[in-house]
Amino acid sequence: MIIAVDFDGTIVEHKYPKIGRPIPFAIETLLKLQKDGHVLLMWSVRTDELLQEAVDYCESKGLKFFAANKNYPEEDVSTASRKLNADLFIDDRNLGGLPDWGVIYHAIRAMERGETSFERIMMSSGENQRVRRKKNFFIRLGEMFERDGY
Ligand SMILES: [Mg+2]
Repeated sequence: MIIAVDFDGTIVEHKYPKIGRPIPFAIETLLKLQKDGHVLLMWSVRTDELLQEAVDYCESKGLKFFAANKNYPEEDVSTASRKLNADLFIDDRNLGGLPDWGVIYHAIRAMERGETSFERIMMSSGENQRVRRKKNFFIRLGEMFERDGY
């Protein structure tokens, strides 16, 4: 699959325009996905030097994306549409936030097996993780409502 991966808040903690601390197992999981044959694109709001800093950061950890903010290295972004032809996006702005990278890996493996329903994907990552994730989601939701004063 072609997988588009966000940087800030997904690979590192969100400290944009600085580079935050690494999110556990992000780089390791992405390397594993590459090894499994997936094509990884960086998909970030970063541009120019800030984008390059993110690319350099990942390369310093041994992770080389196929392209950053484009579909392939030679793509001319001045004329191409902004649409990225990815099969999947990994982004901390997803509904429910960013799952643990272990869950992400298992979910992708499940998708490859044709298990596309959310429930089955979560089940494939193990009962414990499923319960933990559910809890995390509602705790996060609770914190969000508290913070926003609901
Ligand atoms: Mg983000």
